[in-house]
Amino acid sequence: MKNPVNIHKAIRQHTEMENFFTNGFTVKKNEAEQKQIKADETVAEAAKELEKVAEETRQCRKCDLGSLRTNAVPGEGNPKARIVLVGEGPGADEDAQGRPFVGRAGQLLDRIIEACGLKRSDIFICNVLKCRPPDNRDPRPEEIISCLPYLQRQIEIIEPEIIIAMGAHAARTLLNTNKSIGQLRGQFHEYYAGLGRPPTKVMPTYHTAYLLRNYSQENRRRVWEDMKKVLTELGLPIPEHRKD
Ligand code: URA
Repeated sequence: MKNPVNIHKAIRQHTEMENFFTNGFTVKKNEAEQKQIKADETVAEAAKELEKVAEETRQCRKCDLGSLRTNAVPGEGNPKARIVLVGEGPGADEDAQGRPFVGRAGQLLDRIIEACGLKRSDIFICNVLKCRPPDNRDPRPEEIISCLPYLQRQIEIIEPEIIIAMGAHAARTLLNTNKSIGQLRGQFHEYYAGLGRPPTKVMPTYHTAYLLRNYSQENRRRVWEDMKKVLTELGLPIPEHRKD
């Protein structure tokens, strides 16, 4: 018989091959598991730090709004979100529930988030002011100054890639400018968290409350253009049905 099978050699080769693949995959699997454990720890740590900020806002009496609120509205969402969305300040529904953007403006925001192919829980949603100004009046400069450190710390903890500034108050506060939202929206600006920290991209856009009051096709198109720029910047797909 030509070339008889060397059964011992065949078994050895088979065993070596099996060991190679099993151990090779095990090492890869362990690396992936370690990475996931590290990522989970980072998220848990950020959640803990954000809760400290939230608790401080619940105790805060730095301005008069502290004694007028039903609930502080610190913000909520993914503690390591790629996008932080910043609104102006809580309204009546938010004050009642202690959660941001749960009223009519929030429902429109939910639809925009969904149209982007995202979920509310993918992003972190908060406001410049953590307490409701009476009768939904504009935030006063001294209120913004008192409240700003909470927002700054939230951004520092989350380290988002992009901040969406909804409305003039959020955009002006983050960008330290007096320009109008019409001038600011539609292009990326930079938020500086402090010396030695890399700037974060900011996309100002119209507030959903403004959009509800001025629900024209042109305004809706503008907001959608702004959102598309955010998705593109993050390398996320633009959902097919909204490419127009
Ligand atoms: N408007 C805001 O700016 N923030 C909210 O949370 C709700 C409405």
